[in-house]
Amino acid sequence: MPDNTPAFPPVHVYALAHRCSTCGAEPGVPCDAPRKEADFDSLASIRARPGRPQTEWHPSQLIHARRQDVGARHRNRDVASAPPPEDREPGRRYDTLGDLRQAGPESS
Ligand SMILES: [Zn+2]
Repeated sequence: MPDNTPAFPPVHVYALAHRCSTCGAEPGVPCDAPRKEADFDSLASIRARPGRPQTEWHPSQLIHARRQDVGARHRNRDVASAPPPEDREPGRRYDTLGDLRQAGPESS
């Protein structure tokens, strides 16, 4: 029986938990990336033609590559230090985002 509860959040959640070194976006705040937003808008309008499925919003659209890298490295570290999948408790999360995930711009 497959365990549908992810032990680790997706990379973009990790990335968002870190400050962006490219644009300085605070943890939990999407990147200030007007060009990426414009790309997304034009992609969405292309997809919005009749008969095409609507483009889904995805937070990773607005995360700079370097922040994404930081998030991916953090996630890899968590995966490496967690028990192997067969030893994990179902439904338990093994990420170390804890504090970072809570850290909002107003927490300082
Ligand atoms: Zn950024």
